[in-house]
Amino acid sequence: MSEPFVSSVNDRIRPLLDAVDKLRQLQVMKEGIQLPTIVVVGDQSSGKSSVLESLAGISLPRGQGICTRVPLIMRLQHHFAPEPELSLEYSGKTVRTSEAEIAGAITLATEEIAGGGKGISNTPLTLVVKKKGVPDLTMVDLPGITRVPVHGQPENIYEQIAGIIMEYIRPEESIILNVLSATVDFTTCESIRMSQKVDKNGARTLAVVTKADKAPEGLLEKVTADDVNIGLGYVCVRNRIGDESYKEARKVEADLFETHPLLSRIDKSMVGIPVLAQKLVHIQATIIARCLPDIVRKINEKLAASSSELKRMPETLSTVGEALTAFMGIVGSAKESLNKIIVRGEYDEYPDDEKMHCAARLVDMLEHYSRELYKSFPGDLSMMTEIQVLKEAKKIELPNFLPHTAFLAILQKKIQKISHIPVVFVIDVWNYIDDVIMFVLMHRSENYHQLQQSNRRAGYNLMEKRKERSRNWVTEIVQMEKLTDYASDPAYLNDWKKLMAQQDEFMNALENNATEFQIEGLGVVSIKDLKAYDMPLLPQAFDLKMRMTAYWKIVLRRLVDLMALHLQFCARNLVNKEMEEEIVKELFGRNGGGGGAIEAMLEESPAVAAKREKLNGSIKILSESKKVLENIMDTNATNI
Ligand code: GDP
Ligand code: MG
Repeated sequence: MSEPFVSSVNDRIRPLLDAVDKLRQLQVMKEGIQLPTIVVVGDQSSGKSSVLESLAGISLPRGQGICTRVPLIMRLQHHFAPEPELSLEYSGKTVRTSEAEIAGAITLATEEIAGGGKGISNTPLTLVVKKKGVPDLTMVDLPGITRVPVHGQPENIYEQIAGIIMEYIRPEESIILNVLSATVDFTTCESIRMSQKVDKNGARTLAVVTKADKAPEGLLEKVTADDVNIGLGYVCVRNRIGDESYKEARKVEADLFETHPLLSRIDKSMVGIPVLAQKLVHIQATIIARCLPDIVRKINEKLAASSSELKRMPETLSTVGEALTAFMGIVGSAKESLNKIIVRGEYDEYPDDEKMHCAARLVDMLEHYSRELYKSFPGDLSMMTEIQVLKEAKKIELPNFLPHTAFLAILQKKIQKISHIPVVFVIDVWNYIDDVIMFVLMHRSENYHQLQQSNRRAGYNLMEKRKERSRNWVTEIVQMEKLTDYASDPAYLNDWKKLMAQQDEFMNALENNATEFQIEGLGVVSIKDLKAYDMPLLPQAFDLKMRMTAYWKIVLRRLVDLMALHLQFCARNLVNKEMEEEIVKELFGRNGGGGGAIEAMLEESPAVAAKREKLNGSIKILSESKKVLENIMDTNATNI
């Protein structure tokens, strides 16, 4: 193996592969960016490690049971120096090694990563092989698939291994190198079952059939029948056995496929390690060229997203002065937001959240409230109540005089029936505003846990007080309407006069023994029972009814208008004055004037600190990745 397998392709692809390898080293995959990767899978003892050895010309740990216990990233690089250079990269260090020591070094590194037992780990180990004649290839060798745990392995070993394998082969950017032993029926292979889950038609699966020497019978038929859907084709190989040298092994393999009566019939484009190397290098070049533009785009996008997220994070505070400034900023911005939302009815801050379109929601609520109230208009049209009340209001006075007490008695009854509606409404409104205020306060102080708690208490106290005051106010208004009557509104007299113009007709209808009477603007009233009453009582009852009808309109309008004014006025005060007072009182007043929460703001909450650290980490990795890619774009622009 002294000549490079595929030198012409190498020269062009090498810088791109180096760039991808650098990205891999930077662990850009942790940032959710998939890299084009050749992933080696296979059932246990199918010969995975032997294939990699053959490609690299080195010895990997071999043995009974599980040997590959962590993902092994193998980076093969052709170099011209006669001496090979081998190194292992793991746990942030690079360890130089040699061909003689490589097996032991991998075992040591595996133990450091996955422990001394037989357990496995998802943390990869990178083996760099720089050697004259090796193809420029980067592959990942994964633990072999075992169904039954061997002694000392965890019970769920199969699930663990399957999980790691799936993670590596699922991305569209992965090429699956499926290692199959010629000695088994391919359809029973666990590794085939898995790769078919993520690559149904085998479009990105290449099969290597090992141990051709052990089972030559029917191999040609097996690889031509393609029962297991291998889109990228089959390569049959014979790996090094026992103490053979690599040179000897390649010679034996070449002779085998040249001279064996059965194996020699397999097409030469499908046999031998050199063919495998050539195919892999070609596939690798194709997939890298295809994926790079996307990778560049994703890195730029993620970098921009992380940077702007970091910018949105709160400043780290180091003095009480800074904390106080931040506190005032939070209160000020909450106040400004709430002014927009509640007072001015602007909703540019939350365009898609209907709950935050406060002005419109309040109008909805007010309209609903008004409809509830107006259900009581005009009410019962029969004049029985009026007659009853008038009879009881009799006193010694001039006849035909409409007693004020009768009017008030009816008013009281009517108010009593609707008195709960304004109270329920005002509490509903404050509950809603409570939600909005809390949401904004929590949102604004989200980076300061202590402040958030103190603001939550302040918000609660503020709203409890507000509700209590409004409940008292509304109760008083209702009480006022109930016990007194007054209307300066000329609409009252106008309405009453219009209604009273029908009084004569009403009396005529009674005299003519009509059973019904249509009161213009109100509806039809049954009058057949009214004849039983004294004549002077009836026009009085009619008058009383008409007065009440005209007045009730005024009352309802007043209950709506007053409530609208009250809410606007109180909401404005709440947002501009009371909220701030309550927040400051909560922070400085209660805990003996300590302002403890201000000092607590200096300590960043662990969640925020962790987030900041994570973002900084991402930004570092992504910007380094970006630099790597910019370098190859400059020098190698035509290749992408
Ligand atoms: P892995 O568990 O998939 O990594 O398999 P290994 O590479 O450790 O190989 C399992 C066994 O099969 C070892 O004893 C190898 O020597 C043997 N083996 C691998 N490839 C061949 C081959 O092409 N021919 C023969 N005869 N034996 C092979
Ligand atoms: Mg192995």
